[in-house]
Amino acid sequence: MKTAVYPGSFDPVTYGHLDIIKRASQMFDEVIVAVMVNSAKTPLFSLDERVKMLRESVKDLGNVRIESFGGLLIDYCGKNDIHIVIRGLRAITDFEYELQIAQTNKELSHNKVDTVFLTTSLEYSYLSSSVVKEIASYNGDITPCVPEFIANSLYEKYGFNKEIGGRPYDQQD
Ligand code: ADP
Repeated sequence: MKTAVYPGSFDPVTYGHLDIIKRASQMFDEVIVAVMVNSAKTPLFSLDERVKMLRESVKDLGNVRIESFGGLLIDYCGKNDIHIVIRGLRAITDFEYELQIAQTNKELSHNKVDTVFLTTSLEYSYLSSSVVKEIASYNGDITPCVPEFIANSLYEKYGFNKEIGGRPYDQQD
């Protein structure tokens, strides 16, 4: 059985991530989405919230599992007998960082862990969790970026009433 792990912060999961998860789920027998516990970034959503949002978002994909992990990704891979890591590439700016991480993981795992890159679908190439949070923090419209229930959670985090949060650009006062 070919299992791949898709690690990330997912703070919160966006349609860009979901597109990668769906495409990966068609390529592998099983995809484990691994939400990072320790990250250099301070997350807006708790680990529990990020895991729950992902579970709800992928509930129709039978071969996708949501887990969390701390420590080194290659240790997680070793413990779970996983040899393939999936990462998404949006633009050339992602490439250098991603290449470095992929090569580090390959070296540290003695060539047991390889990284497969999926390029973003064009309509999501501008999307990142940070951009979505920034737009939401100004009560902007994030409905093209994340599922509705996640948009509502974001508006609540930033103190906006979810009923009026993120009115589309052409409906602002
Ligand atoms: P990290 O904190 O590890 O960068 P993220 O949750 O931000 O975690 O992203 C996880 C992975 O998803 C990364 O490989 C990132 O490049 C990819 N990704 C994020 N947004 C998109 C997108 N819009 N299209 C394709 N891949 C994406």
